[in-house]
Amino acid sequence: MSFLSATFHLTHNCNLRCSYCYTGEKLPLAMTYETINESIRFVLSELDRLGLHKVDITFFGGEPLIEKQKIFYIISKFNEIANLEVSYRMSTNGVLITNDLMSKLYENKVYLSLSIDGHPDVHDRHRLDAGGNPTALRVEKAAQIMLNYNPATNVTCVVSPDTANQLAESVDYIYELGFRYITTTLDYSAEWNEGHFKEIEKSYKKLAKWYIGKMESNERFYLSFFDERIRSRTLKPLQASERCQMGISQFSISPNGELYPCIQFVKTDSLPEFMIGHVRTGFDAACQQHIHRKSEKEKPECAGCQMESRCSKWCSCINYMSTGSIEKASPIVCYNEKILIEIVDKTADILWKKRNNHFVHKHYNNDYHIISHFEITL
Ligand code: SF4
Ligand code: SF4
Repeated sequence: MSFLSATFHLTHNCNLRCSYCYTGEKLPLAMTYETINESIRFVLSELDRLGLHKVDITFFGGEPLIEKQKIFYIISKFNEIANLEVSYRMSTNGVLITNDLMSKLYENKVYLSLSIDGHPDVHDRHRLDAGGNPTALRVEKAAQIMLNYNPATNVTCVVSPDTANQLAESVDYIYELGFRYITTTLDYSAEWNEGHFKEIEKSYKKLAKWYIGKMESNERFYLSFFDERIRSRTLKPLQASERCQMGISQFSISPNGELYPCIQFVKTDSLPEFMIGHVRTGFDAACQQHIHRKSEKEKPECAGCQMESRCSKWCSCINYMSTGSIEKASPIVCYNEKILIEIVDKTADILWKKRNNHFVHKHYNNDYHIISHFEITL
């Protein structure tokens, strides 16, 4: 382990009411300055205990910008520590972004990820505000402000069963807004049926053409659905030590200071079975190990599957969201991976056979991501 990853859930409040939100009831319960100070002390003591000098701090919610003063307070406290390398990230729904706020976040080197599900018709199906109003146009405005400061801003795009048929158009819309880093994920808590998977398969096929077109035009971008799976074939699948190390090298701090192994377990109602300690008293090592062991357990339902090393069935929070257990592979993941890996592999084969220079460079040159990041931000 070379660095620690700590997520500060600053509030249980949010200005949106996304239909697929897993964080529970939206209440004005924020992390107090007392808990913040205890949390910072805890993170520093963990770094000390592990002999590490590098930490990733993520601001999360609810919507973290509701507590924006606390973000800058935490940054100022970490920045006071000598010989500590800290990087800051934040996930936001974008509605509270203004030019002044963005300028301050940029000055403090906070790397942002904005949630956009696709073009306004798709986005507003699931991402309404607390008053039931659409948010797409406000988020579009925020997107332009964010991209002006950092063209490498990430977008997280959630695909729901009823938007699966518009995935390719949604990705293209996000791309046309100017984003070059697009992280796509399914709503794993939703009810997916065969009809929805047929629709998503058609969308993946359209997206494959889109991907090939962009590669042939030599465009620099990252699309997680495709690039992660090409990576797991051309390089090698992520080793257990490279994965999230649930509850060991990464943890989440709830607004009242409880420690959890992952963001997905921080909800307005505590989940005692996944609590691995408290910032005041430290980790409960027995709970931490128990959850970690459970998450690493072999999945008998996957025995003999040829995709096992490339599939994301190891992600405990997805498994929990989808099956209610961190030990069972999600059937949604299973269905999706089988469809997607086949399409992605065919896409990669086409580009390989054409000896597409950009493809070879992107997937076989270890320095590509650094070079491409510079090219996107220039
Ligand atoms: S913006 Fe995030 S926290 Fe707020 S309701 Fe939507 S998914 Fe939940
Ligand atoms: S979840 Fe499905 S695709 Fe993934 S490894 Fe298990 S059986 Fe294979």
